[in-house]
Amino acid sequence: MQTSEFTFELRVCQWAERHWPPTSDGSDERVLIARQLGTKHRRWDTIVVETDRHRLAERARFGTHRLDADLLGVVRNAPPEWAYYRDVLPHPGYPWRYVRDAIHTAEDRGILDTRRRGNRIEIRRKWEYPDWVDRIVAIENKPDLDASAAQALTDQLQRDVALALADEVWVATRATGETVEPALLERLPVETGILTVTTGGDRASTGRTDARVVWHPRSLDRTAVGTRILERATDGESDLSVARFEYADPEWKATKRLEIAERAYERGWRSYVDSMRPDCRWFSLRSVDGDVLPWCGANACSQSSAECSGRCSSFEPEPPNWRTRGWPIDGGPGAALKRLLADQRRRHRIDHEE
Ligand code: SF4
Repeated sequence: MQTSEFTFELRVCQWAERHWPPTSDGSDERVLIARQLGTKHRRWDTIVVETDRHRLAERARFGTHRLDADLLGVVRNAPPEWAYYRDVLPHPGYPWRYVRDAIHTAEDRGILDTRRRGNRIEIRRKWEYPDWVDRIVAIENKPDLDASAAQALTDQLQRDVALALADEVWVATRATGETVEPALLERLPVETGILTVTTGGDRASTGRTDARVVWHPRSLDRTAVGTRILERATDGESDLSVARFEYADPEWKATKRLEIAERAYERGWRSYVDSMRPDCRWFSLRSVDGDVLPWCGANACSQSSAECSGRCSSFEPEPPNWRTRGWPIDGGPGAALKRLLADQRRRHRIDHEE
């Protein structure tokens, strides 16, 4: 059975959670894996946030939910001693009332001390916000990398390399077992790493999802000014158009990277279930070749998130008698599966905290 890109992506996430970085020496490195994150203009399939155990534990003090740009502006600049917030926070570039909203949110979440002095709000940090993100790695998943898929991907990857928002960019594709992997023959940017992935049904499989580095990436310079390619000229000789681009300054890149890491921290990769229909009677989770995948009993396959929606012709809601105690607050098996995945996501973070 050919796996969908969605299923392939879930397998890559699980492999990365077990084995990243591919050249690990087994030291104190830790990774968080998420999927479908990026900027307004570009979403990566798989994101690997590299950190270490100690700093992940420091980040954990700020709770399991992400800190958005407004909250980051407050907690990163809050002083160790009481101070009037306007004296210590940088001007946000928008009205101060939004900063006050963020201060109240931070207080409600228990990550900032506040007090009133007359009309003034003073703030004091509870903990220093850690510099917890070492590297961000972007992986583009393309199980079937034929020539036309490679051509489309090359354009995206060239943009990723020019912007250098991630520290490394990789392509993960299905291993073919051929002497020279076809991905090596495509005109992908030389800075892009290539992983070939073997899953259970493949010829070269040993039973469990595994990946091999067939081309090592070059590290991109996240501290340098990046180039955002907006439009590019075609290669045709008759094309007289010129490329359009703009620069991305290092401060923008640093802020955007932290926002991406925060979203990865909150969501992980298991949140895929939120865009599916676990409340369908046919939905379950199944272990396939060592990976846990969503499973559709009606179609006897691991379904994609696009297939598993309210528009699916085989959708049938869970029978009410499946819903036991606590219904409708706790729900039936579908709600239990969502809780299970959320628990696993939480445990994965807590493992790092211990
Ligand atoms: S029948 Fe459709 S909605 Fe139900 S689990 Fe299968 S794919 Fe999802």
